[in-house]
Amino acid sequence: RTVYVNGEYLPEERATVSIFDRGFLFADAVYEVTSVLGGKLIDFDGHAARLDRSLGELGMSMPMEAEALRDVHHRLVAENGIEDGLIYLQVTRGAADRDFAFPEAGTAQTVVLFTQSKPGLADSPAAKMGLKVISIPDARWGRRDIKTVQLLYPSMGKMMAKAAGADDAWMVEDGHVTEGTSNNAYIVTGRKIVTRQLGQEILHGITRAAVLRMAREAQMEVEERSFTIEEAQAADEAFITSASSFVTPVVEIDGAKVGDGTPGKIAARLREIYLEESKRTAS
Ligand code: PMP
Repeated sequence: RTVYVNGEYLPEERATVSIFDRGFLFADAVYEVTSVLGGKLIDFDGHAARLDRSLGELGMSMPMEAEALRDVHHRLVAENGIEDGLIYLQVTRGAADRDFAFPEAGTAQTVVLFTQSKPGLADSPAAKMGLKVISIPDARWGRRDIKTVQLLYPSMGKMMAKAAGADDAWMVEDGHVTEGTSNNAYIVTGRKIVTRQLGQEILHGITRAAVLRMAREAQMEVEERSFTIEEAQAADEAFITSASSFVTPVVEIDGAKVGDGTPGKIAARLREIYLEESKRTAS
């Protein structure tokens, strides 16, 4: 696999980053994951805009123009022959002698990109079967709207789900669901799609924005507010969204079936609409 590190395209075995990199020592870094379908990028502009925002919130800037970044994505897709898969991008504050204070302005940032081939990404078994989730406390820091690489707690959450025989975990704060470990969470009650309002408590999903727009365009009712696990268990449907899972139904929450315990119609329809439009506008 060819990867990108600071302006160079290299075989992955030869790609290196300093042990003093602040991404490694302090998780002082942000990332993005963009999906690739049919060799094209899904919503690159959305991911580039969020990257810019994440960097800005941490006092970093993007060391590369959006167009140059798009070119890197395209070159990696081409060189690695990616049909369906993901592109991971990470930008760190760079390498400097270890110190909590940020290094002086002008320290070269680190930019790394690599691809992951995922044949059949858009027809995963989870889309047909639905996911089982458990609820866990949300023990992350308070700025979840910034897409940092501090992913230890979400990793632990996935392991807790696995240990409980489930697929994922929904995190709960003050009695209300924030989001999944790596996705945004939704329920459908009546014909209304309910998902948590934006704020610092959740990541502003690029897929979330697209799916809510498409739902409204299809005359579906959308309400942005928080909900409890009890409300979700009693809902007609539940689902998640993310760049890598698109729209995926949730059929069980803490052992209780959602609806009749099979993937819901609205989730299925939204997945269809989302994939159709995303593939059509992919670049
Ligand atoms: N929330 C969290 C915590 C995530 O890690 C992700 C995936 N990056 C999402 C939501 C979904 O965001 P997106 O639709 O942009 O992939």
